[in-house]
Amino acid sequence: MEGNEERTSSLTRRQALTGAAVLGSAATVGGRGAITTGTRKTGGSLPAAHVREILDEISPRNIEQTILGLVSFGTRNTLSSQTDPQRGIGAARDWLLQQFQQVAAASKGRLSVGLQSYLQPAGSRIPTPTVITNVVATLPGTQPESAGRIYVVSGHYDSRGTNVLDTTLDAPGANDDASGVAAALEMARVMSKRQFDATLVFMAVAGEEQGLYGSNFYATQAKAQGLNIAGMFTNDIIGSSTAQDGKRDPFSVRLFVEGLPSTPAPAEAAIRLDGGETELPPRQLARYIKEVGENEATSMNVDVIVRRDRFGRGGDHIPFLAQGYPAVRFTEWREDYRHQHQDTRLVAGVQWGDLPQFVDYQYIARVARVNATALASLALAPATPSGALIDPTAQVIDTALKWSANTESDLAGYEVLYRPTTDPDWTSAVTIPVGKVTTFTVTDTYKDDYFFGVRAIDSGGNRSPVAAFIIPGT
Ligand SMILES: [Zn+2]
Repeated sequence: MEGNEERTSSLTRRQALTGAAVLGSAATVGGRGAITTGTRKTGGSLPAAHVREILDEISPRNIEQTILGLVSFGTRNTLSSQTDPQRGIGAARDWLLQQFQQVAAASKGRLSVGLQSYLQPAGSRIPTPTVITNVVATLPGTQPESAGRIYVVSGHYDSRGTNVLDTTLDAPGANDDASGVAAALEMARVMSKRQFDATLVFMAVAGEEQGLYGSNFYATQAKAQGLNIAGMFTNDIIGSSTAQDGKRDPFSVRLFVEGLPSTPAPAEAAIRLDGGETELPPRQLARYIKEVGENEATSMNVDVIVRRDRFGRGGDHIPFLAQGYPAVRFTEWREDYRHQHQDTRLVAGVQWGDLPQFVDYQYIARVARVNATALASLALAPATPSGALIDPTAQVIDTALKWSANTESDLAGYEVLYRPTTDPDWTSAVTIPVGKVTTFTVTDTYKDDYFFGVRAIDSGGNRSPVAAFIIPGT
């Protein structure tokens, strides 16, 4: 009896597996005639007219040309040839430098471009010491008080196949991550025609697949020089709107943001004691991107995922987080694992590999527009207020807040906000314009029951991200 049951159940399991296999191939067929599930974002507040002009100029055609250009070098594995003029990462680096230099030439000297190279010692994915080179384009801020505030947007131009150490097979990397590089280059082209208060850095890094090396070098150098990086976005695998199951959502992008810091500084550990773990700067940056990036001009939904990255995986924002800089990752709404980290080949009649045919240039342009809206808004706005302290000592049903004065010459004032501790963001928060002050008491509002924040506004109505009152002080 028991034996029969066992046979029956294993038969059932086999049948179930066969069924799954049939479903799997049906989904593959479905992939060709993808089912669109996502809808265009409506509502949200439209960006200012001068930001909408930037969005209008972002061109899917230019993005396509950059991706096809990068794919043409065969492989861009970090360990591939750095001297062959036709094939390998060296040829891709030189071509990218040229592309950024052309943008710089058209910017009337606003944008400056350079290479940042260093010798990476051998490691588990670096058999011998290897030169790693980032292509870095800088658009200096034009407001003296804000030029030292920097926002970085990057993609990685290195690629890989199934074996990360293979330097000879094709590794087209159209999605991972020519898509992110193409977005950064296109933003550099459009934004370098304009002026921003704060400084913007558009970057293509290498060594990502070998261990986030290029971005780590940039972030550690920045920290050593005391640079104020107020926000960093990596765009990595932003190329496709079609998932492995054939579903398509051309109007959603995921934004990964750290939950708890992986290596919390003592101050951050103390913040957790008072329940401020959702209120640290990376989370405020993600809220800001969602608030300004979701609207009818971008058509995009920004799905904030409160995880540093996908399970067991990493990206170029992580070295920035490790240096204490707020950093986030954009990635397409669902990945197709047949088209990343895979050699180009046919598997049971299905094409695998990270090829341009699986990339949606209109979608990448939309993701770039979300980035550009956020970067422009951040770089036009005052700095996030610093020194935000909440007075925990007064045993009254009033909440006393103070912060340090911003230094921008066009500062108009501040808004104090508060929201229930279970609300995920500030969009429904109570918002109080408080003028140009550095202290404010919210009356009849019990400090234990809300998250409080403050943001700065300039005379043009540009708003900074929110600084949260999570540090007790009197
Ligand atoms: Zn990648």
